[in-house]
Amino acid sequence: MSTPRQPRETRAGLEPLAVLPVFVPLQGKRAVLAGSNGGAPWKVKLLAAAGALVDVYAPEPSEELLAVPGEIAAGSVTLHRRGWTPEDLAGAAFAIGATEDEADCIAFVAAARAAGAIVNAVDRPHLCDVKFGAIVNRSPLVVGISTEGAAPVFGQTVRARIEAMLPRGFSRWVAAARDWRDGVSERFHGFAERRGFWERFTDRAFAEPDRAPTQGDLTELLGETEAAPKGGAVTLVGAGPGDAELLTLKALRALRNADVILYDDLVAREILDYARREARTMLVGKTGHGPSCRQDDINALMVSLAKTGKQVVRLKSGDPLVFGRAGEELEACRLAGVPCTVVPGVTAAQGAAASLGVSLTHRDAARRLQYVTGHDRRGALPEDLNWGALADPSVTTVVYMPKRTLGVLLERAISEGLAPATPALVVFNATRPDQATVTGTAADLAARIEAAGLEGPAILMVGEALGLREAEAIIGTAPDRLAI
Ligand code: SAH
Repeated sequence: MSTPRQPRETRAGLEPLAVLPVFVPLQGKRAVLAGSNGGAPWKVKLLAAAGALVDVYAPEPSEELLAVPGEIAAGSVTLHRRGWTPEDLAGAAFAIGATEDEADCIAFVAAARAAGAIVNAVDRPHLCDVKFGAIVNRSPLVVGISTEGAAPVFGQTVRARIEAMLPRGFSRWVAAARDWRDGVSERFHGFAERRGFWERFTDRAFAEPDRAPTQGDLTELLGETEAAPKGGAVTLVGAGPGDAELLTLKALRALRNADVILYDDLVAREILDYARREARTMLVGKTGHGPSCRQDDINALMVSLAKTGKQVVRLKSGDPLVFGRAGEELEACRLAGVPCTVVPGVTAAQGAAASLGVSLTHRDAARRLQYVTGHDRRGALPEDLNWGALADPSVTTVVYMPKRTLGVLLERAISEGLAPATPALVVFNATRPDQATVTGTAADLAARIEAAGLEGPAILMVGEALGLREAEAIIGTAPDRLAI
């Protein structure tokens, strides 16, 4: 038996950030721009668009700058045809140096800082407290993009992509959210209910972005939220074999909704990034070889958290209903009267087959597909496997947890009648960046695996379908590391 361990709370890490994105409210505040270099007109427009009252000090304004006051839809712009003075900065919340002369710009920046303004200087990054990024504007929804000066064209392309992804109508939906927010908070006091309302609201916005939200929407959404079942619940969610893009939309929604996530060692860490930042994450892993949490402890924790009203996600690798002891977790919830639902995931066999580009069934070579465990309660080869079925020439067999017993399993299958030349392969770390495949036959695969010395979760696949010519061709060019 493996060593016991206790469920343990884990915290999401944060990769280093090149800059900290923050958003500066400027509605009704004073902003000052000095100078009239090439970047000045656009910066003045930006400040005005954010609702600032902008004073521009420029002894010789360019044609373009002169035109700005007539072109703005928000804020106000006053052009002063003279140089700036320190007094001009009194009460400024934001200041931009746009003078041609470096020394003048340095003096302006110092005066602006002394006046308490946030400072930017056009084309002089060394003088800036804050920098501008590319913007996607669906106000009040605003997206800012920065490459921290590393790749402006890249940033522009990202902006164009996001621009295409966000319908213009989102503006109206987010504005409605702002107007309805207080009312919704008054109506629903619990976090889960409020969140339920805003989830439904967001679904509607995504479904019908081009239509303006109405009072009728509000009434319906309030009604739906009131009618929804309350209290905690458990969702068994399939995290797939590793690649986060294989998550289902339902899995994403469950992760975003979760208060607590109990996850296994095999769940790829990137997948936890889709959870809410405030969600508690707990590692409750069972590993074949290392320390393991007891299933009873996991069940008890899951149920007790749900009973305190939490939305609990039990996040399991692959599909929860394939070699995941989900039956016991479902039963524990049923016995405790805790509602429990299942969100399926891509099981390791499917992930591996897809990334290799092999069909697991074939009209000539594989009439049947079977998933088998290579591992019993003690970690040994299960005594009661159906050897006749494993020796069947027209089956594709996928063995989960095969690592410790692969040699004996294949040997025994051959002695029960499996052709020694039957194609066999093991995929390590299927769908992950370090995916690697070892191919061979039922007779020689064990030795090849030994020689390859690979690590990580692995599944064994055996069957004629895997050796078909088209399959071989694809395996040969698969993007993973082939160890043959
Ligand atoms: N519920 C999971 C299986 C859990 S049992 C599923 O549906 O995939 C754990 C076993 O799954 C591992 O020992 C390994 O055999 C297999 N497995 C899980 N993820 C894998 C991956 N990314 N690559 C290869 N095998 C994997």
